[in-house]
Amino acid sequence: MHSSMPDFRLSPEKWLLRETGWFPDRQDYFGTILALGNGHIGSRSVLEEVPKACVPGTFIAGVFDDAGSIVDDMVNLPNPFELRLFVNGQKLSVETMQVISHERVLDMRRGALSRLTVFRGGLAGKFELRTERFISRADSSAMVLRARITSLDGDADLTVAGDIGVASVNTEPYYELLKRHFCLEELRSESRSSFLRIRTLHSGIDVGYSWTTMVDGEAHSSKSIRHKLKKGRTVEIVRMASIIESGEIPGSALSGKCDRSLAGMMRSGVDSLQKSHEKEWERLWDVSDISVKGSAEVEKAGRFNVYHLLICGKAGGNPSSIGAKSLTGESYRGHYFWDTEVYMLPFYVMNHPEMARHLLEYRFNHMDAARKNAPLRGFKGALFPWESGGNGEEETPYFPDDKGGLYLWETGLFEHHIAADIPMAMMNYLAVTGDSEMMPSRGLELMVETARFWASRVTWNRKDECYEIRGVIGPDEYHYPVDNNVFTNFMARWNLEAAAETVESVEINNSKAFNRTARRISLKDSEITEWRRIAGLIKGTNPSGDGVIEQFDSYYKLKEVPITKWTRNGLPEWPKGVNEKNVLKTRLNKQADMILLMTLFPDRFSREQKINNFRYYEKRTLHMSSLSACAFALAGLEWGVGENAMRYFMSSLFTDLKDGQRNTKNGMHAACCGGNWQMLVRGFAGVGIRNGGLSINPRVPREWKEMSLSIIWRGNLLRLKVAAKSVQIRNTGSKAVSLSVFGQPVEVGAGSKAVFSSK
Ligand code: BGC
Repeated sequence: MHSSMPDFRLSPEKWLLRETGWFPDRQDYFGTILALGNGHIGSRSVLEEVPKACVPGTFIAGVFDDAGSIVDDMVNLPNPFELRLFVNGQKLSVETMQVISHERVLDMRRGALSRLTVFRGGLAGKFELRTERFISRADSSAMVLRARITSLDGDADLTVAGDIGVASVNTEPYYELLKRHFCLEELRSESRSSFLRIRTLHSGIDVGYSWTTMVDGEAHSSKSIRHKLKKGRTVEIVRMASIIESGEIPGSALSGKCDRSLAGMMRSGVDSLQKSHEKEWERLWDVSDISVKGSAEVEKAGRFNVYHLLICGKAGGNPSSIGAKSLTGESYRGHYFWDTEVYMLPFYVMNHPEMARHLLEYRFNHMDAARKNAPLRGFKGALFPWESGGNGEEETPYFPDDKGGLYLWETGLFEHHIAADIPMAMMNYLAVTGDSEMMPSRGLELMVETARFWASRVTWNRKDECYEIRGVIGPDEYHYPVDNNVFTNFMARWNLEAAAETVESVEINNSKAFNRTARRISLKDSEITEWRRIAGLIKGTNPSGDGVIEQFDSYYKLKEVPITKWTRNGLPEWPKGVNEKNVLKTRLNKQADMILLMTLFPDRFSREQKINNFRYYEKRTLHMSSLSACAFALAGLEWGVGENAMRYFMSSLFTDLKDGQRNTKNGMHAACCGGNWQMLVRGFAGVGIRNGGLSINPRVPREWKEMSLSIIWRGNLLRLKVAAKSVQIRNTGSKAVSLSVFGQPVEVGAGSKAVFSSK
């Protein structure tokens, strides 16, 4: 039985990302950027033969373990895409044979990776290997690899290793050496398939794999499958695997479930699995693609960023969040930060609200961990940990101190703005989706518990008669701990006020649910009055005048060090004599802090104030985090400081494609991908939320001519075509949508199209 091998060039070039030639020292970079995923499973794109010096990575969202490591690691699991082939006794591999030609292509439209390599193996002869692999978007547990091998010189003996290696280890961070986070619990082979079950050592999560290896249509389970290769005749090898973790079902039931799922895959066959997979991708892109008429370069890079947001988003299964490196690398140990809520969530909210909801569910499910975390730091309410993993607890790493003890990295102790970032993201989700269930159920509790945290976090300054928030780290992590970081103070104030409003509105609109929650969390009327009183008195949250705002107390006392050199990507280099250790004595910032705040609360600052702050902090920001340039680009676009915005935009958009932070090999900068989407949609297309409503105010550069994109607003899919002076909206939904276009209130009826022009 032969199925046809899909052609590399099925999609037009604008959907393809190519690796051309075999460059051993670039393999980890390509492993990251060509990664595959379906939100549930992620896989770094290492070659099938798994060369020695590469960093493989197979991850399941939410599968963490801390055995042998100081905190949770996202577990690096066995890799079903490993396929060892031997020809005339020699391993078919880029390491053991001469590589005559090599190309890999990621087809972003179809979520599939293809390869074409021609090898010469000394006496073994010349061989052509084509492969294609995908992680099904239609069946969250299905992974498929199809390989075709042709002997070009003469007849040859082919041996296919039918097993899956269980030697995967976590390699990050380097000082913990290699860690195997699981043990093998079960391994059995039937005639046509095999099953293995592993269990993570401390977290006790079981993961089952059922797989088969088919050679020329015949399914095998054996370790070594022998076959004759006739000169010029192609042999097809198919690996199908079904991978399920016990988070979804009991460990004991895994074997049956995996086997049934694999049997279903085998019945369907590769072509049909591929078809359903591609249909799902079509559905995702139908909402998420952004076309930029006048710039193929921006369009493709934008697509690449969106592709990476799509491969880590999911709606079903156990709620989990998205790590700083998504499912593409072990760096940051797979931990979840504010990156998800502030940088990535806006994409999911407007494009795939079911995925956004899923991300928020993760936080709701770990309210208890956040409630436990607050008193550990001496506060009340709920403090979401700075870094979290499988169980929602604080996972910021500990480091050995000079006295033989351990200390928690400062961000875990002091970076508290995350407590407000999460509720703010939820409010944006509600504004866009109009979801009426979330607030009375779990949202109310989140608002109350985070407000309680801030009410306990402030301290009264008798002399100045204001509340202060001392000892924090703001988004700029180079200065710590500082007092009254304006970003944190603003977020705290917003949180307290929003919680007070929420309590009142849920009480009026949904008294039954309100009473239930209020009783459960012992909410008192006096708390609401208190939150409002505190909020109005938090230092620095009533900015006046147009001047520059001091980022935190005594910032102006720090040393001025001018930035004089920029990299090729247009971002600053470290000034001479300044490094990560002494930077805290200078006014140099790691990343956007005040500027980010102003993009989050655009109406609280005057235009002059925003521009003055932009110009001031721009000269003092090093953009050493990939979360920074996109914030400056957004600010620059919205506030009309356009000459710099374009530079930040281009540098941020290509962060991973051009390896701008020089660490793409460790995984994608997922927050940056989200920031890049925000730049395109909010920055250029001008699509945003203002005063709880939808607003479109495009800033499309003349060279780009027109951008086309879609968003989902209150359940209605809106197709937008935006240009500098016109906006076309096609409302494909079932309800009329009211919004503001070019600052004017308008309405677009259900199923109708409208065009608006600016004067
Ligand atoms: C940044 C943080 C970010 C973290 C994970 C750090 O370098 O400063 O803002 O949350 O990376 O991406």
